[in-house]
Amino acid sequence: MPESTPQATANIGVVGLAVMGSNLARNLASREGNTVAVFNRSPERTRTLTTEHPEAGFVASEGYDQFVASLAKPRTAIIMVQAGKGTDAVISELVKRFEPGDIIVDGGNANFHDTIRREAEIAPTGIHFVGAGISGGEEGALNGPSIMPGGSAESYETLGPILASIAAVAEGEPCVTHVGTDGAGHFVKMVHNGIEYADMQLIAEAYDLIRQGTGKSPAEIADIFAEWNTGELESYLIEITAEVLRQVDAATGQPLVDVILDEAGAKGTGAWTVQNALDLGVPVSGIAEAVFARSLSSKRAQREAAADLPGPSTAWTVEEADADAFVEDVRRALYASKIIAYSQGFDEIVAGAEQFGWDIHKGDIAKIWRAGCIIRARFLNRIADAYAEDPGLVALVTAPYFRDAVAGAQDSWRRVVQIAAGAGIPTPAFSSSLAYYDGLRADRLPAALVQGQRDFFGAHTYQRVDKPGVFHTLWSGDRSEIETTPSSH
Ligand code: NAP
Repeated sequence: MPESTPQATANIGVVGLAVMGSNLARNLASREGNTVAVFNRSPERTRTLTTEHPEAGFVASEGYDQFVASLAKPRTAIIMVQAGKGTDAVISELVKRFEPGDIIVDGGNANFHDTIRREAEIAPTGIHFVGAGISGGEEGALNGPSIMPGGSAESYETLGPILASIAAVAEGEPCVTHVGTDGAGHFVKMVHNGIEYADMQLIAEAYDLIRQGTGKSPAEIADIFAEWNTGELESYLIEITAEVLRQVDAATGQPLVDVILDEAGAKGTGAWTVQNALDLGVPVSGIAEAVFARSLSSKRAQREAAADLPGPSTAWTVEEADADAFVEDVRRALYASKIIAYSQGFDEIVAGAEQFGWDIHKGDIAKIWRAGCIIRARFLNRIADAYAEDPGLVALVTAPYFRDAVAGAQDSWRRVVQIAAGAGIPTPAFSSSLAYYDGLRADRLPAALVQGQRDFFGAHTYQRVDKPGVFHTLWSGDRSEIETTPSSH
């Protein structure tokens, strides 16, 4: 079809009309005041969307010239294509046609380093580039996602109201905030996904412990999760876990969870969170264990080779009379571990903000995660409150509410980790969260010995507890100590 030059009637455009893009376009079109231009590389997708949703009043295009001409100035286009090369390809076409002041938004799951690079490349043209993390999957895109935009404050003046109109709403507030400049939005979305990995793994470990310990069926455990969802653990992930556990496979009549192959996939954002945490020197052990647990689950050949390795010599089950108490222990262990996972995630946000020069308001991040996104949970209000009370809070777990919550849960937490170790049930996220907690609160850590070892083999020096300065022991000499850097005192 030859391209005609349309009127510039649309205030917002969407490029990329697979599941996320079409749902986001429909969401935009359903809001008062929006006229939405749509374009997809393969025209079939555009035709399907416009045919199936005439009510949306889309301004459809079959080429970039036509798409750009259909946008009113300042032109604003949201890219929802496959992250990576797809995003770069679309950006280069838009940059050729856009003018200074226009706004290109990448709503895909971009690596924030790419977003920083793209923003730097585009900035000299005067076009604004905004990397926006969008969470909530296809349902969120359609009905209201949690949106984490980066980019310039100037572009947010135009973009903010549009994004606020389509975002999820939590307690009357839209789940969108200007996170910070350039890659800040995609960075925070990455950490969101990392926390999501940890949360899912913790829930899976809780299920496994209850199932193996009490012999309850998936449907019975679904009831337990549904009950938990009425309390402090209330969250989307707990809610859907109950639904998954209740599902029966039509073909076999078995619980669906028993016929799903136990190899967990991953698209990479959890690994990015851990890789960047390593670069930033932030311990995100809960998230890392969750990523590794998925990796281990997929090592089929190794798992088969190891299947006959010995486990505990005695079998473990929970007496029926003790089952309720055990389930309650697991619930508390889950809550405490979850607090650690979020505390670690926020530590990474703080470290990233410092490293990349972003002014990120932690309380606002907790607020925009309260609805629309996968980790939406009741206790995000508690996190927002904690940062509102003390914006300089050095570790979330030390805020009064969380301190009390962990104090109340820790006996259960320790029992559960002990039982799991004794019973040979893998609980990497529960166990590592507890180890992190004990490491964080320890008066003295064996890091002193590690420093001694480092000094022994590499003359890496150490500091002393009793006086300032940097010291080295002459390990291969007379083992006397020398001061290697003059003390300032
Ligand atoms: P997708 O499967 O990731 O990507 C397919 C879309 O990308 C199609 O519209 C495709 O166009 C387009 N595309 C690929 N390469 C292109 C190129 N070189 N030039 C132009 N268009 C190109 O789609 P999706 O699942 O809807 O996700 C879109 C984005 O949102 C991704 O970045 C994804 O990571 C992110 N996201 C997804 C979810 C989710 O739950 N699915 C959640 C949050 C964020 P054709 O039709 O022409 O092939």
